[in-house]
Amino acid sequence: MDLNTPASELPLVGPVYVSRLKRLDINTIGDLLHHVPSRYLDFRLTSEIRNVRPGETVTLRGQIVSMDNIYTKKGTKIQAAKVKDSTGEIEAIWFNQPFLVRNLPEGTIVSLAGKVDWFGRKIALISPEYEKVLGNKKSLHTGRLVPIYPETSGISSKWMRGKIAFGFDQVQNNIEDNLPTSILKNLNLVDLSSAISSVHFPKTLEEVEEGKKRLAFDELLRIQLNSLWKKKKWEQNKASFRLSVKIKDTSKFLKKLPFKLTASQDDAVKEILDDLGKDNPMNRLLEGDVGSGKTVVAAIAAFACFLNEHQTVFMAPTQILAEQHFKTLKQMFSPFKVRISLITSDGIKKDFGRSDIFVGTHALLHKKLDLANVALVVIDEQHKFGVKQRARLIRKSGNKSTAPHILTMTATPIPRTIALTFYGDLDLSTLTELPKGRKPIKTWTIPPQKRESAYQWVGEQINENQAQVFVIVPLIEESEKETMKQIKAATSEYKAIKKIFPKLSIGLLHGRLKTKDKNKVIDLFKKGSTDILVSTPVVEVGIDVPAATIMLIEAAERFGLAQLHQLRGRIGRGEKESYCLLFAETKSPKVQARLNALKITMSGFELAELDLKLRGPGEIFGTKQHGFPELKIASWQDTELIIITKGLAQKVFKNPKKYKKLSSRFNKGKILTN
Ligand code: ADP
Ligand code: MG
Repeated sequence: MDLNTPASELPLVGPVYVSRLKRLDINTIGDLLHHVPSRYLDFRLTSEIRNVRPGETVTLRGQIVSMDNIYTKKGTKIQAAKVKDSTGEIEAIWFNQPFLVRNLPEGTIVSLAGKVDWFGRKIALISPEYEKVLGNKKSLHTGRLVPIYPETSGISSKWMRGKIAFGFDQVQNNIEDNLPTSILKNLNLVDLSSAISSVHFPKTLEEVEEGKKRLAFDELLRIQLNSLWKKKKWEQNKASFRLSVKIKDTSKFLKKLPFKLTASQDDAVKEILDDLGKDNPMNRLLEGDVGSGKTVVAAIAAFACFLNEHQTVFMAPTQILAEQHFKTLKQMFSPFKVRISLITSDGIKKDFGRSDIFVGTHALLHKKLDLANVALVVIDEQHKFGVKQRARLIRKSGNKSTAPHILTMTATPIPRTIALTFYGDLDLSTLTELPKGRKPIKTWTIPPQKRESAYQWVGEQINENQAQVFVIVPLIEESEKETMKQIKAATSEYKAIKKIFPKLSIGLLHGRLKTKDKNKVIDLFKKGSTDILVSTPVVEVGIDVPAATIMLIEAAERFGLAQLHQLRGRIGRGEKESYCLLFAETKSPKVQARLNALKITMSGFELAELDLKLRGPGEIFGTKQHGFPELKIASWQDTELIIITKGLAQKVFKNPKKYKKLSSRFNKGKILTN
């Protein structure tokens, strides 16, 4: 056996357990040994029975004197054992585990570990971990730092400990370390075998940290190498069309814009146009805060394609966004003869003749379209699409040996170190500034006792200044589609707001509305016929209502800072002063302090960094659908390790011979298939 042996070869691991393990991404013994505990129970203190005291957590060793099922009046089954050693006797109590009576019959020598407490008038071990003492076998579940594993239904930590101990025993002499000793020394890392042993069988918690550090290093290095490998693969493609692009050609377009590009838009445009002129296809991520002006950057690239008589595909995650892009692009390109069509599940909307730009939702993937002449694919809000959807669009536009240029865009402000790792296969352009003249959004946190007066103020703003208001309802559940619970919450908020503002016109927007109804709601709001639009957090994905100047966010503490920032990006788009009011359900000073960050900065990137520090990466993105990779062992907060692994990965790629073991391991097997 070695690390690559399938887990199914472990004794007593049949198809049922194989599939349960699969849910944890565990296929091989190596995967199993890389399944790192989430915490440890400290059962290191062993004691003689006569010395135990209530409140202690101890391990005892003794013989079962009696073991009985006892039925209580309430109907619970209690298992009570008497255990003795040479110094005394103590009771051990479990709840609802009747099988124990068979498992631990009278006479069994056991090791028990757990908390000592009063049970009735006697002291007892309450729900202790137990294991039979068999010869010289080392104890696994008692008498040491006992690991607790991240579990899935049907796999207990106890089961896991057994399999890991067996597996490690079998393979420990076959664990080959892919990192050269010199690197281990330089970076102060332990070797792989010790690392695995340290996380599963530690003597101290310090040892756990050392082991974890080494495994985290491997995890990050694998991601880095994988990214570089993907990048190399991509670069072996030929571009579908090599374009001749000169900055001066695009200036015709720039002259017709009602504004000047910001410096970072300028830089991004240069980087993109430069890529478009190359033989191998671009694969670039344009990252920029909400409102930083990504659309126009993409439009310039599309214009360059148009000048070369090639087409562009522009894919957006929702129908509303696709329609908005369609309108925006139509307007931007109105001085030129650029023909744009809109492809959504409703059908195809187009002018006569062939199209120069296809704008659409994922309906683009399913409709029959001739995309043979497509030179550029733009994917907006890329994280809203699955890897497969993206790949499909790319394949649809290119052919076996060629690929279109790809520009993906995201408003999720991923800190640069992370972006360079997770998106290591992409080139990165960042819009770091908002267009000039944007007014910062005044952001307030509203304590519960000020809610009344906040509503009063909002009412005044509507009546006196014709303000339009978004009310964002609490985020109920993180899920791909809006759940019924979320819709219910929105509906009851809608009713509540109606009661508070009986004379005003209130709208309700959520993800379960039919597109037609959604559009109607948004149109009414855009036209100014709706004063207050109550919405689920779906508005996060950009609808553009420049006249909206106030946003109320309920239960703001449930969102990540960057997510709140994206939400408030829906206001502050016009000339008028804008206000964002954050209601929190708790008075906790920690929450207040976190939310206060929104008052201070208008930079999504700064907020994302802060989120990362305070709550971890899940919070930057809020929902799983953002496609942010979950690290199993390492942490995205560990910037230092991220940078070191990036550096090493680059060295390995430059000089694969020097890092033979590493590069051969990373050049085959499952690592590269994802
Ligand atoms: P996002 O990056 O969120 O997609 P958009 O592309 O929708 O942002 O741009 C937001 C708004 O800013 C649009 O109305 C757009 O016309 C405007 N805009 C873009 N670039 C500039 C600029 N350089 N100066 C002024 N306004 C700009
Ligand atoms: Mg956008």
